[in-house]
Amino acid sequence: MPRARVLRVDPLRPSGEAIEEAAEVLRGGGLVAFPTETVYGLGADAFNPEAVYRVYRAKRRPLDNPLIVHVSSPEMLHRVAADVPDWVASALSVAWPGPLTVVLRRNPSLPAAVSGGLETVAVRCPAHPVALKLIEALGGPVAAPSANIAGRPSPTRAEHVLEDLGDEVDVVVDAGETFFGIESTVVDVLSPRPRILRPGPVGPEELEKVFGTKIDVPPFARGVEVFGERPPSPGLKYRHYAPSKRLVLVERGSCDDSSYLEFLTRMLESHSPEPPALLASNETSDAVRERLGDSVAYIRLGSRGNLFEIAKNLFSSLRSLDRHEGVSVAFSEAVEERGVGLAIMNRLRKASSERIICA
Ligand code: AMP
Ligand code: MG
Repeated sequence: MPRARVLRVDPLRPSGEAIEEAAEVLRGGGLVAFPTETVYGLGADAFNPEAVYRVYRAKRRPLDNPLIVHVSSPEMLHRVAADVPDWVASALSVAWPGPLTVVLRRNPSLPAAVSGGLETVAVRCPAHPVALKLIEALGGPVAAPSANIAGRPSPTRAEHVLEDLGDEVDVVVDAGETFFGIESTVVDVLSPRPRILRPGPVGPEELEKVFGTKIDVPPFARGVEVFGERPPSPGLKYRHYAPSKRLVLVERGSCDDSSYLEFLTRMLESHSPEPPALLASNETSDAVRERLGDSVAYIRLGSRGNLFEIAKNLFSSLRSLDRHEGVSVAFSEAVEERGVGLAIMNRLRKASSERIICA
């Protein structure tokens, strides 16, 4: 039995007692896992350095990979960040609460440990009622990375948190499945033009509207490594979201839909007699099943017409792969890199052990 206490709450109207109990644990320097609209976070009082170090230890996260600080008001933003430019503050007044994180100058009074020793800090105001009420009950910012062991898929349900961190965390506030299922968009607003450090639910097209300016989408935001270039966000150098099995991402390259399906089917066939798994949209799974029947283990991600559905199912599907007995290799379909599709492809590229390109 894991050590953590589980407090079940309604996602939209969480009980005040449960929230107060969780806030009290944070006040005492403890760790509370809680739902946000993106994924579950592993929270600590951001102004308590010892509690912050516990987060790194529990997750086995390298100490140079900074945490995101969660706030519930503009006033709290100014307690953790310094010199917030007016154009950023006004963009945030539109975008928050929501799945958008900005990297700003760190307020010197915020412990450097939160930022992995950097002079900057990543901040966001989450849109989940449970997260907002917890921050308000503490009365201060909560440092919270995703509540998984470093390198594992992020948790979208309380059970995932218990699987990874059941013995490390004091309380898990369980409000069921998170809404987006993929981590926040991280934007560096200190560079001359805002640039995406990590794509997320807020796509580049939407960001341009929020900030009223062009946004840079560097290759690393797509999950593509550029040889010899130093990553601007420490998290970018680590492999992420990875299941323990071999995962082969089949990139679309210049193939059209029908030659891509042909190529994917051939890849799967070449793996017999051992059944491979296929992580794919419902449409692609159905089309492959018509050809290969039950010689493949199908993990359906949702409809290709709704990339938010695919994003929401992605991490639990990666976790479920590890539970498929008799399967040692999985192939994954690639999605179109627009909107949240950019984030899906970033996660798939980081989770995969190999990539092959349709030709
Ligand atoms: P997580 O909280 O686990 O979802 O990861 C947070 C992400 O934000 C990681 O990729 C971090 O590297 C990135 N991040 C956090 N703080 C900063 C910062 N000060 N500068 C650049 N990237 C950051
Ligand atoms: Mg994470």
